[in-house]
Amino acid sequence: MLIETHAHLDYPDFANDLDDVLGRANEAGVTRIITIGTSIESSRRAVDLAEKYSSVYAVIGVHPTYAEKAGEDVITPLRELAKSPRVVAIGETGLDYHHLPSVEAAKQKNVQVFSALQSGTEEQLEASIEDGAYKSKQIDLFEEQLDLAIELHLNVVIHQRDAWDDTLEIMKPYAGKLRGVFHCFGGTLEQANEVLDLDHLVSFTGIVTFKNGASVREVAAKVPSWKFMVETDCPYLAPVPFRGKRCEPAHTRIVAETKSPRPPRKRRRTFLGSTAYDKSQRDRHPHPPHCYRRDRTRHLVLCRAGHAASHPYQRARTKISGSRSR
Ligand SMILES: [Zn+2]
Ligand SMILES: [Zn+2]
Repeated sequence: MLIETHAHLDYPDFANDLDDVLGRANEAGVTRIITIGTSIESSRRAVDLAEKYSSVYAVIGVHPTYAEKAGEDVITPLRELAKSPRVVAIGETGLDYHHLPSVEAAKQKNVQVFSALQSGTEEQLEASIEDGAYKSKQIDLFEEQLDLAIELHLNVVIHQRDAWDDTLEIMKPYAGKLRGVFHCFGGTLEQANEVLDLDHLVSFTGIVTFKNGASVREVAAKVPSWKFMVETDCPYLAPVPFRGKRCEPAHTRIVAETKSPRPPRKRRRTFLGSTAYDKSQRDRHPHPPHCYRRDRTRHLVLCRAGHAASHPYQRARTKISGSRSR
């Protein structure tokens, strides 16, 4: 059984074929899906989905990039939504400084950010004030949701982008009072350890399959298996070989099989195996490539019962041991 810990099933990307998407997830052994709200409306849709489908659970919250659009009081509606027994955490909440007003303004004018920050014209001063206001709105929203999580005895799903120091600083006073997962983790091993030392978890996405995801792969390989979760963050970040296409919860299996604490060469082989394990290919080749690997655990997980008898690895074992057929 695999749990997809971060999906956005309420997004319009899934409006036309959600039943098929859930069916494919189930077929891939992804039997539970946690769908994450990003605004009040999105959280409401997440709860509706969780109440409709038994494999779906909801996390409710307001994403930091929605801070500007969010109403004055997001806590009252969130507290109301949390009454549903299908709600399992608060989030995604956190800080995202990737689109600071000054950066956006600089982009528009085609000006380098560093030169904008170095000179002190009135315009730039204004930009930095705007940045401050933007950040403090996100910080307020983040703290309110952390307080709500404590009040409701729920865990939190943390979104952090280009705001590492502030995120950790804000979470410090909450240490020991709540637990969170730093989703879509892309930091260094030191940062991962910082999070783990505070008794939080990290979670990895399809980035671990990307050609340019080597550093994340390396960190992932070093995090103990009980300290991380896997997710797709669908509809975004589809793993290879689906990169660029719509991502979906079934792909959690690819992420899980790529995140393997083995030396790089072996991990690459695992990854190549998992790419081939999509159903269409499996139907063409009765044995998924995993079966040919001398890896008993993986074999037990992935090879359907029907393969066992004619399975080359099993035949080899039978020959050696003489009596074992399964
Ligand atoms: Zn996120
Ligand atoms: Zn997300």
